[in-house]
Amino acid sequence: MSEPPWRPAYIGVGSNLDDPVVQVRQGIDLLRSLPDTLVTLISSFYRSAPMGPQGQPDFINAVVALVTKLPPGKLLALTQGLEARQGRDRRAEKWGPRTLDLDLLAYSSVKMSDCNLTLPHPGIAGRNFVLLPWAEIAPNYFVPGLATVAELAQSVAGKDPQIEKIG
Ligand code: ATP
Ligand code: CA
Ligand code: CA
Repeated sequence: MSEPPWRPAYIGVGSNLDDPVVQVRQGIDLLRSLPDTLVTLISSFYRSAPMGPQGQPDFINAVVALVTKLPPGKLLALTQGLEARQGRDRRAEKWGPRTLDLDLLAYSSVKMSDCNLTLPHPGIAGRNFVLLPWAEIAPNYFVPGLATVAELAQSVAGKDPQIEKIG
């Protein structure tokens, strides 16, 4: 059988618990340890007000570009294992505080939806904390079925939640 090709994928990394900047750094280091996967670019880190339940700490977010030979379902399963390793409590409330969130934002030109995985990630279009860091590293990537990352980022610039680049 022939080797699977290298394909681009983008992961949104987020945290708002247990020293979030360190969590995001550790999350990125864990992504480097994935088999058949290379981290190619990392955005700046951003701090933003929480989406969903208020009264929880601010989030730190970044976006990572990969090339991978893993199929999408396997990449999701492995990233969920990394979240668990960082102490992510999956019983917590929706959009509540978390040590590490790894969202598979998009994978090559794939559009799909099954019970575990929707690609592109359905929350992309309205989220400045995803689109602003993503636009730093992949402005011309066409998000399947939507638009380029730069175009999507332009449409959320200046909108909520409040966000600042922290370097
Ligand atoms: P959101 O998905 O709106 O950002 P969240 O990150 O808080 O919210 P989670 O609790 O981390 O949501 O994930 C809920 C489920 O979403 C996971 O169990 C996973 O199977 C599913 N899921 C579907 N598509 C994706 C995707 N593209 N990336 C990550 N998880 C996904
Ligand atoms: Ca998420
Ligand atoms: Ca998630």
